[in-house]
Amino acid sequence: MIFVVCGPGGVGKGTLVKRVLELVGDVTLSRSWTTRSPRHGEDPGAYVFVGREDFEAKVRAGGFLEWTEFPGTGHLYGTPLPDSGVGERGDLLLEIELDGARQVRRDHPDAVVILVVAPSISVQEERLRGRGDDEQAVARRLEVGRFEEKLGRQLADHVVVNDDVERAAGELAGIIESYRKRMETT
Ligand code: 5GP
Repeated sequence: MIFVVCGPGGVGKGTLVKRVLELVGDVTLSRSWTTRSPRHGEDPGAYVFVGREDFEAKVRAGGFLEWTEFPGTGHLYGTPLPDSGVGERGDLLLEIELDGARQVRRDHPDAVVILVVAPSISVQEERLRGRGDDEQAVARRLEVGRFEEKLGRQLADHVVVNDDVERAAGELAGIIESYRKRMETT
């Protein structure tokens, strides 16, 4: 199965997903490719950081499950096709933005889409600032985020409010487990 965790920047998707991976076994987190540069202090393994030419070559070769240009930044992000093919080895977890989630749903209608939202705009704003983005970037991402949340609510099967990491991760893990149980009994 494919589980897609999506939502605006600054809602804490990354932290949540890390905790979910500890709670739920046998799920592979996809490592995305991006053309943006690593942030100061960012884990170098967070993405496969590549130049635009390499990214575009992979697009031409049909090497992505989905990819998009992130609004306002011009950076490209994409989920590489898993080596063993989709769904052949355990479940796949993607942490991506809305346009990518829409592509995955279009190509894999059984994919489960989970929207993560912040408990309030001010919490989201603080998270974006805390990450070291400049004020202009924070404002731009909040604006994009409002639009993303609206689209996300139309697309998602589930909406999780990230008010507390432990609680929200537990809820997300429970959603994943419930789909797995359903698969086992069908
Ligand atoms: P950031 O630059 O803050 O790491 O990520 C910007 C946005 O891109 C986030 O919303 C993140 O979830 C999304 N993103 C990360 N990887 C991918 C990907 O492979 N595909 C898509 N569509 N979005 C991604």
